Amino acid sequence: MSNLKMSDVLFKENLRPAEEYEELYKPRNLPEGTKVTRVAPSPTGYLHLGTLYVSLIDSITAGENGVFYVRIEDTDKKREVEGGVSNILNGLKDFGINPTEGYTLNGEIGSYGPYKQSLRKEIYQSFAKSLVDKGLAYPCFCTAEELNEVRAEQEKNKERTGYYGKYAKHRNITPEKAQELINEGKPFVVRFKSMGSEENKIKVEDLIKGKIEMPENDEDFVILKSDGIPTYHFAHAVDDHLMRTTHIIRGDEWLSSLPKHIQLFKTLGFKVPKYAHIAPIMKLENGNKRKISKRKDPEAAVSFFKEQGFPAESVIEYLMSVASSEFEAWRKANPNESYTKFKFNLKKMSLSGALFDGDKLNDVSKNVISKFSAEKVTNSVLNWAKEYNTAFYEKISKDTDYLKAIFSIDRDVPKPRKDIAKWSDAESFTEYFYNYNAKMALPEKICPDDAIGLLSEYKKVYTERQSQSEWFEDIKQICEPFGFCANTKEYRVNPQNYKGSVGDVSTLIRLAITSRQNSPDLFSIMLLLKKEECFKRIDKAIALIEELKKEIQ
Ligand code: GLU
Repeated sequence: MSNLKMSDVLFKENLRPAEEYEELYKPRNLPEGTKVTRVAPSPTGYLHLGTLYVSLIDSITAGENGVFYVRIEDTDKKREVEGGVSNILNGLKDFGINPTEGYTLNGEIGSYGPYKQSLRKEIYQSFAKSLVDKGLAYPCFCTAEELNEVRAEQEKNKERTGYYGKYAKHRNITPEKAQELINEGKPFVVRFKSMGSEENKIKVEDLIKGKIEMPENDEDFVILKSDGIPTYHFAHAVDDHLMRTTHIIRGDEWLSSLPKHIQLFKTLGFKVPKYAHIAPIMKLENGNKRKISKRKDPEAAVSFFKEQGFPAESVIEYLMSVASSEFEAWRKANPNESYTKFKFNLKKMSLSGALFDGDKLNDVSKNVISKFSAEKVTNSVLNWAKEYNTAFYEKISKDTDYLKAIFSIDRDVPKPRKDIAKWSDAESFTEYFYNYNAKMALPEKICPDDAIGLLSEYKKVYTERQSQSEWFEDIKQICEPFGFCANTKEYRVNPQNYKGSVGDVSTLIRLAITSRQNSPDLFSIMLLLKKEECFKRIDKAIALIEELKKEIQ
């Protein structure tokens, strides 16, 4: 009786009974074993790498037949930033993560909404009231100062801090006293009345961490704050129950709160969902691992990857390799499959936080980009440059067919080159197709006189051939008179008989044309640059070698 009286004191009259919500949000009619997952970001800034990572794991866990939805956890209005929700939703979209339900860019989808916590205030009130009705929650009028004093006392006595046992001051408050304090204008929170004891251990099975034993919760933690807004703990239980989530996949910073959550679910009469606590992505600092941080690490915000020009596919591919040690082997065996076909298993995730490895991301990305069509690379580079490097954009957008021809070299071949890890690499990669950076080094085995002779001879024999083998024949032709072996096999057997091989001679030509030791297929480059430009470069190279000669003499 006095519980109901307490409810009357605390809540407004016309609240819907909690049971009605059970009716309104019936269990989902899905085949046995179908997984329902969700990502529950708080709109406090940009899409964080950790949120993307969790979303990826949520979406592959739900799989093609499951449900993966977004719920916006905007109960902390102080931390909310403008545009925070669209930053997150657009970010997920950019990475090809497409929730099938929830709060989306196209409004709310699904019949379990609203999917934004600020729109669910009444629902939380109803469930909090249902607890108060049963004497399982009560108002607490402690001020921040009082709570601090208790904490200080607990610390002094070397006791566990918190609102529990003898420290739970308002645990037995009467409705009359509550009414009196409310009349005086005193703010209050609603606390859960824990029936647990520290002495008891609870056993939980985490899908990633395995079996865990933890002390039962005995804290009378807050479920509704003084403005009637729920705490994370309470909203998690109410929302994930009513939205019929089967798998709670979240960062392992929540693991220590699990006893509270399990107790809440049970007390509210909800089925406890399955839990999977993910170890965060870490960084190495001075030899120590630490959680990736929004403040210290630019890569904590996924916008970093976009700015650098990493394709979304690369970041996802990299995160998949972080999520599962079996992914890379699978990828080798299935080079062209979508990552969504990988049989992901939460149970095989690493227990400790994986290190963010920029070099690994580069390698993964080179591989991903090497499989893109020239058309896709061209468009992606143009889009990236337009936004992040306008000078480069000016240069390459004048002739997009030419740009595409550059990216076509050594693409669509059995072993495509892996030169580009991110679109920002494209500027240096394409540089010599636009400007001839006149500098000339000589291959180790070629002296200046031979270099000049070889290049001059090459000009005499060079014609724009249609096949690489004919092109190579032309280079072979000029080798022997200068003492270079035209046949690489023969050179390998008898190197002492020659100054060098046809390989050194082509490096010389490559250096003259591109100023680089290494480049994609030189035959294709020369065809694209055209004979006149190639000859101009060779002449310039000869002039530079002449100067070099003078310096040496
Ligand atoms: N809003 C919570 C967070 O940002 C979500 C945690 C969860 O997935 O339950 O950490």
